[in-house]
Amino acid sequence: MPESAETNRMLVRADHLKASDNPTFVSLLDQLHLREARLSDQQRLLLRYLDAWQLDYLGDYRAARASLTAIIREAPDPALRFRATATLVNVLGAVHRYEDAFVQLNQLIEQLPRISGRELRWQGLGEIAQLLTAAGQYDLGASYARQMLDVIPAGETACKASYFIEHARYSGGQLGKHDPQAEEAIDECARAGESVFANALRADMASVQIKAGYPAEAAAMLEKHYASVRHDRYLITTLRFDALLAQAYLAQGQSGKARTYALAAVKASAPGEFTDPLRMACRTLYQIDQQRGDFKSALDWHRRYMEADKGYLDDVSAKALAFQIVKQQVQAKKVQVDALDKQNKILQLRQALDRKAVEASRLYIAMLALGLLAIGLWLLRLKRSQLAFMRLAQCDSLTGIFNRKHFMSEAEQVLRYVQRSARGACLVLIDLDHFKLVNDTHGHAMGDLVLRQAVTACQAHMRSTDVFGRLGGEEFGILLPECSMDSAIERAEAIRHSVAQLSSAAEPGIRISASFGVACTRETGHDLRQLLIDADQALYRAKRAGRNCVVAGKQGEGIVIA
Ligand code: GH3
Ligand code: MG
Ligand code: MG
Repeated sequence: MPESAETNRMLVRADHLKASDNPTFVSLLDQLHLREARLSDQQRLLLRYLDAWQLDYLGDYRAARASLTAIIREAPDPALRFRATATLVNVLGAVHRYEDAFVQLNQLIEQLPRISGRELRWQGLGEIAQLLTAAGQYDLGASYARQMLDVIPAGETACKASYFIEHARYSGGQLGKHDPQAEEAIDECARAGESVFANALRADMASVQIKAGYPAEAAAMLEKHYASVRHDRYLITTLRFDALLAQAYLAQGQSGKARTYALAAVKASAPGEFTDPLRMACRTLYQIDQQRGDFKSALDWHRRYMEADKGYLDDVSAKALAFQIVKQQVQAKKVQVDALDKQNKILQLRQALDRKAVEASRLYIAMLALGLLAIGLWLLRLKRSQLAFMRLAQCDSLTGIFNRKHFMSEAEQVLRYVQRSARGACLVLIDLDHFKLVNDTHGHAMGDLVLRQAVTACQAHMRSTDVFGRLGGEEFGILLPECSMDSAIERAEAIRHSVAQLSSAAEPGIRISASFGVACTRETGHDLRQLLIDADQALYRAKRAGRNCVVAGKQGEGIVIA
């Protein structure tokens, strides 16, 4: 066999083996490098791509990124450029460079119509679907994943595409606690031997079941597939299984088991990486310690929970924001090019008009000017959509009040302000009582309605300077600036009364009440985290004191008002 044909055969084989038999792949790369001087340009570029792929696989993202960028710049073959771009998107996502990732993603989407190979389209569509879903564009992500079903390459099954579709539905809150479509996708992946995807979807399903109040079902499913997840050695799914099992057991009152699983998730987490399972596990450990009265350890876990929570939420909104920024940049660039083009045409016609003074041209100019006006209006709309997006990123979709992240940043700002002006503030934490019972007996939709009504009841007592947000499922926070402990208690008491009144106004038979924990800067200081911890402990004591009451201040010196 001539050497060039032999080299091609080795390249194809290496390409094929890279994920399934990485050691053989690496030794093929070594052999190929020995004959590097005799490779054609095309062969050398493909070898460079395979080198970069291996760097990505080993986690050397910096080197992978540099090499892939060079290949995209130099490769004349559009197919190789497309592959390199797809891998680069993956690398940039891994190093949290989301803005760069979306710029590349845009390139990928633009190249897509010119790519006909099934394998390439499959890979590219997969990257696009994944990153869009991570950026909160669930419908768009799912629509690209659906396109994968038309180009399933030989040797592949629909599993990966179905996984992306169902995961996008999960991320968008569209998965039901018994979801035939998702269950079908799990079976499909299990049949294909793709346990990594099957287990990732099982974690999604379990998470929905726990939130819907079915922790026993979730725990049974997670336990059944626990060994398989361990065997996969896919870190994030392992962490999710542990953190979800911890949550599911705590919800069933089995705090010993909950603790074991939560600690496993914390231990297996990479230092400095703030993931959703890590924050869930820290929160569960905090709740367990608080329940058994070990407040010192509870405080510690609460601190770690807040740290993980902030890190994770920052990453989530970084993705969403990067997507919007790049989208707006691309749109703005298109509009600018269009506007420039129109301005040029107007100029040219003016010159022609000077020479000929043709009436028809005037009409044309008027039309172009109208076009420019339309573009101006369009830019205005773009600005408005940017503002709408800001609101979306700051507010909770169910109740319309601030979400946790935005509440925290607003409350921090207000606290800094009152501290500078030597004034005080109080934080009120609110948790609806036996809310799970509302869901269980009247359904989740009724639960949602009660949440919205409770928010309206709170808002009736709010001043314009108060900061009000939904901190979690049925937990809310209000920061009251320039407020003493006495008046904070008084106002919390008024809100408590209004919420309890909802019982008679709502559907007959539903009992609605809430418990309140109050902490103030005078006793706690101006640190938001410490205020949250103290208020949360007061809230916990309110629950233990029989619920539907307000508790303020620290342990021992607390005030209970029922
Ligand atoms: P406690 O008095 O001790 O607070 O009892 P609880 O039942 O309220 O306690 P827990 O915190 O265990 O339960 C909260 C429930 O809130 C669990 C979950 O099903 C429900 N929940 C969380 N978010 C939502 C939501 O967005 N909508 C609805 N309908 N329910 C939710
Ligand atoms: Mg709660
Ligand atoms: Mg509750």
